[in-house]
Amino acid sequence: MSISDLQNRHFPLTVVRHHPLDITLQLPASNLLDQSSFLTAKEIVAFTANGMKTYADLLEHFPKRHEDRRRFDAFPASPTLHAVCLRGMVLDARTMRFSGSYACYEALVIDGQGGVFGSNKITCRWFNMPFLSKMLAAGHEVIVYGKVKDIKGKLVIDHPEFEIIRDDGGESIHVDRIVPIYKNITGIAQRRLREIMHLLLQRVNPSTITQVYDVAPQRTRFDDLKVVHFPESMEQAQVARRRFALEEFFAIQLNVVWRRARHHDHAGRVLGKKTTLLKAFYQSLPFDLTNAQKRSIKEIIADMRSPRPMNRLLQGDVGSGKTFVAMAAMLLAVDSGCQAALMAPTQILAEQHYLTCKKWFEPLGVRIALRTGNREDYTHEAIDGDAQIIIGTHALLFAGDAFADLGFVVIDEQHKFGVSQRARLISHGTMPDVLVMTATPIPRTLTMTIYGDLDVSVLDERPANRGKIVTAMRTNPKVSDITSFLKDHLDEGRQAYLVYPLVEDSETVKAESATVAWEKWSKRLKPHRTGLLHGKIVAEEKEQVMQAFRDGEIQVLVATSVIEVGVDVPNANIMIIHHAERFGLAQLHQLRGRIGRGEHKSYCILLTDSKTPEALEKLQALVDSSDGFHIAEVDLRMRGPGEVLGTAQSGLTTIKFADFLADTTLLREARQLADQVIAIDADLSNHYQCLRPLIHIETLDLEHRA
Ligand code: ADP
Ligand code: MG
Repeated sequence: MSISDLQNRHFPLTVVRHHPLDITLQLPASNLLDQSSFLTAKEIVAFTANGMKTYADLLEHFPKRHEDRRRFDAFPASPTLHAVCLRGMVLDARTMRFSGSYACYEALVIDGQGGVFGSNKITCRWFNMPFLSKMLAAGHEVIVYGKVKDIKGKLVIDHPEFEIIRDDGGESIHVDRIVPIYKNITGIAQRRLREIMHLLLQRVNPSTITQVYDVAPQRTRFDDLKVVHFPESMEQAQVARRRFALEEFFAIQLNVVWRRARHHDHAGRVLGKKTTLLKAFYQSLPFDLTNAQKRSIKEIIADMRSPRPMNRLLQGDVGSGKTFVAMAAMLLAVDSGCQAALMAPTQILAEQHYLTCKKWFEPLGVRIALRTGNREDYTHEAIDGDAQIIIGTHALLFAGDAFADLGFVVIDEQHKFGVSQRARLISHGTMPDVLVMTATPIPRTLTMTIYGDLDVSVLDERPANRGKIVTAMRTNPKVSDITSFLKDHLDEGRQAYLVYPLVEDSETVKAESATVAWEKWSKRLKPHRTGLLHGKIVAEEKEQVMQAFRDGEIQVLVATSVIEVGVDVPNANIMIIHHAERFGLAQLHQLRGRIGRGEHKSYCILLTDSKTPEALEKLQALVDSSDGFHIAEVDLRMRGPGEVLGTAQSGLTTIKFADFLADTTLLREARQLADQVIAIDADLSNHYQCLRPLIHIETLDLEHRA
């Protein structure tokens, strides 16, 4: 049977002549060791140590970027926001010592073209690389690449990528053209690596490097490989890179779609038919739900009522009302006669949720229990299968005894938990419906990639009764100004957060700490009372401080970022963040979410004495916008997806073509291909059997657990 027959059978309304995934089953790529005529034994060892065993592996070591060496950047006269590529001469190079021992290797590079007067000098420094003294010396012509910063009046690039230019004579693959720059492979110099790639592309048999699937049959894969390494224009390189990005994203989406399909295979529970408790809950609320909350609850109810297991992500900025959506869902579960569990990443947050639920649920006669590592001993609450709603931290993972019939699971700040922790909590029930929540807005394109197997509800609307939040950045403010600003608001009865990056003063980091600052502020702000909160304070004391702040006995909280999640005191309307540049953008946005929760106008003031362009750009992004999604996009652009998502669980840190994560069209294309494949061959046992190796162990493992 031909592919187009298959097409017509499965998509009777779609007439597609050539399936975009024309299968070209190929022999495995030849082994490097067999045909290694132009590689030295040492090089083969180096490649093998990096997991590269075949020519195909080698050629898929794609350039991480290209350098247009037909023209270079001008030597800058001030620090730069982005990396620059400079061509110059090493005027002087030496090992720098600090009290006798090796500190760094330093090279002073001057603009070779620029003449003597007025030409700018750049100092390049490499730490922990003493061997450089044998490689790089005065007189070398070099290309350096890196971001220029200002260190005590000197323009410096730390750890630039560099290459010594040699006179190769004739046509060179290293200069006067667009040149590939590869991620380093220990033991093989950049230049040599480039030569190897060039030779390989001339000698390799194209048929040995074809994929088992072809996402772009209009051009051969081999042509794209040639272009991706040695393009004639940047545009051409980008087109070729896009093909390999599509290949990569297709493989990711195939896992996502596979996971989703497996999940839907299971018969789930039908919950949420009875709405008595939900109605009573609505009636007891002093506010109307936002439209976004209503819409999300509707989506959740539909999921719960369907016999398919629910697997939904609720995304929304801090303060958008996620907890209330989760509460409505948990009540529906309870009304259907089963238990619900809510797991939060920190004790403070778990206790906060517990108090909120207690406040609204106890009048409805719902039994609630708290389970955190520290609390179980002294709450004395019976949780032997009697509680209907159980709230807790990781301790819930070990609380199997508490669950008689767990039917609904909520996981707050889900990115703080690993895949296996999620699976473990879920395993306390039989196919419970699952709602995961995150207050870390993720750019939509990333959502599709990481959470593509989840259905998504978004709270994109702030509850109506909220005061405006003004965000401002200040450099070198006077302490007296801050003090009088604070006092004005405290006198009016408001409360404030003073945030610091460090718990205690440190010798290596030049920033004031919460502990030291707390002593000062306690005096300055008298008679207002000031409390201290950070991660090293024992849990009970932490809870006392929090309670005092909630009750208004303490007006000012000097804290580290421990208040980032979950603290909810609507009367607090001031947040002053010291050394704001030391926090990540997403973190700052989360911190700011602690204010603006009440009716009063709120102020978030970012203090910094940093002058680096990154710091200023980062802080300005907060001043300019309060939209979490927008801030997430900026964060993604500034730091890249690996950093933004951080945790290994997302699996995104290893993405080769991460820059394409912003390419929605490409992601859609990848998703469509994956959908088509799974629609034709759901468990990849048939027509697309050859794609089965693309399914990750983790995906298989999860399925096994479910
Ligand atoms: P999130 O979990 O998204 O950070 P919460 O559910 O904790 O947000 O809600 C934040 C605050 O807003 C709480 O004090 C809550 O009582 C209040 N709140 C939630 N929904 C509404 C609403 N629709 N109208 C007014 N206030 C609301
Ligand atoms: Mg919350």
